[in-house]
Amino acid sequence: MEALAGGETGAEAGVAVGAGAIGTTRVTGAGSCAHAAAAPATARTAQTEKHASMALGGFMAERDHAGLCGKMQLVATWRLCFVNAIGVPDLRQTSPEGVTVIDHPLIRVKLTIVRDRGTSSEEFRRELKELATLMTFEVARDFETVVREVETPLAPYAGAALARPVIIAPILRAGLSFVDGMLQVLSNASVGHIGMYRNEETHRPESYYFKLPSHLSTAEVLVVDPMLATGWSATGAITQLKANGARYLRYVCLVSCPAGLKQLREAHPDVPIFTAAIDPELNTNAYIVPGLGDAGDRYFGTYSVMGG
Ligand code: URA
Repeated sequence: MEALAGGETGAEAGVAVGAGAIGTTRVTGAGSCAHAAAAPATARTAQTEKHASMALGGFMAERDHAGLCGKMQLVATWRLCFVNAIGVPDLRQTSPEGVTVIDHPLIRVKLTIVRDRGTSSEEFRRELKELATLMTFEVARDFETVVREVETPLAPYAGAALARPVIIAPILRAGLSFVDGMLQVLSNASVGHIGMYRNEETHRPESYYFKLPSHLSTAEVLVVDPMLATGWSATGAITQLKANGARYLRYVCLVSCPAGLKQLREAHPDVPIFTAAIDPELNTNAYIVPGLGDAGDRYFGTYSVMGG
């Protein structure tokens, strides 16, 4: 049995939000159109635009296929693409339902650093941690709150407390890279662990470890893995979490791709996905391209040179 280090089969997580302090694409409504339109096209490289365009092409192909099959609700809900001043489709306006692309200059800059093959493990860890912190603001944007009465030194104050406890549930091993960054802003959260390995006969992930707190059914559960590749690990993890009572689930990943999004949305359409990027494709080894390589290896310093 080969352990599936986080995204090793290529499967993993996501989150959601509206156009707020951190710009995001909400899947419903046109809330962030103006915001996206305001982003200067020059802020992104030609290569990024090319990849965005390729990914969009993949989505559109999926939609056409769905139209023929007449059964893919997911792709039937793609929004019309927003085309910027230089005629390049903007992915922030084309997310499938239930998928939020968290877009912010700091996130784009940090994501570029972690994509760079020349980035050291030390810097990779630091940037990934900060990305996790930034993304958590948007993942938690619609967390329910309840009134919490406190006394300031001067007067009573009716403030807020989270209505539910939070559990961060990394998919081992790469998902661990998000935990510290999320705990920066969710310091009361519990951390559960989900281990998956790849069954070499079925090529599907199977669980080898599952340790979640007993309040799973009442908590906001953030399933995290930096790479949503094939989507099979994410699907398996969420299936297992639901079987154990989890009800308020969100999936958070840094980089996703059309195949993984489609797999996860079809398997668990009720679970919102949050991602910082939708890359165009998977290679034959189920790595996301352009992606960032093996997130677990780069985070833990077990990196070996990959083709190209
Ligand atoms: N897991 C990774 O770490 N990277 C990929 O590109 C896909 C899965």
